[in-house]
Amino acid sequence: MKNTSEFTTGKLQTIVLGGGMTGLAAGWASGLPVYEAEDTPGGICSSYYLRAHSQTRRHQPPEDGEAYRFEIGGGHWIFGEILPSCGLFED
Ligand SMILES: Cc1cc2nc3c(=O)[nH]c(=O)nc-3n(C[C@H](O)[C@H](O)[C@H](O)COP(=O)(O)OP(=O)(O)OC[C@H]3O[C@@H](n4cnc5c(N)ncnc54)[C@H](O)[C@@H]3O)c2cc1C
Repeated sequence: MKNTSEFTTGKLQTIVLGGGMTGLAAGWASGLPVYEAEDTPGGICSSYYLRAHSQTRRHQPPEDGEAYRFEIGGGHWIFGEILPSCGLFED
């Protein structure tokens, strides 16, 4: 059991758990660190690339473009097309 003094001495740190869209937004808005279990952020709203006859997932397309893109959660349409919001994805 934790000593309650830890809550007052600053040893505990607030974090955001999960780097999907929700966690990334929470981290961006709060400035708190985001911890993600996977190699890349995005959660179900992210993509990966596979070359033909390969099972190695790539997070970026190969330079020759010879790969298929898959969506982890299926196809997504980011509603609204609000330009400042879209700029966050590019950051
Ligand atoms: C098929 C489909 C289509 C959709 N289409 C649209 C659409 O067109 N437009 C739209 O706006 N929304 C769409 N949505 C909804 C949208 O994808 C979700 O609401 C949104 O992506 C959820 O984000 P999230 O961060 O809450 O969860 P998630 O994306 O599930 O992210 C959770 C993250 O937490 C991580 N995590 C989990 N446990 C831990 C742990 N213990 N430690 C560290 N990290 C952890 C996971 O690895 C993951 O990255 C769609 C959803 C689906 C399934």
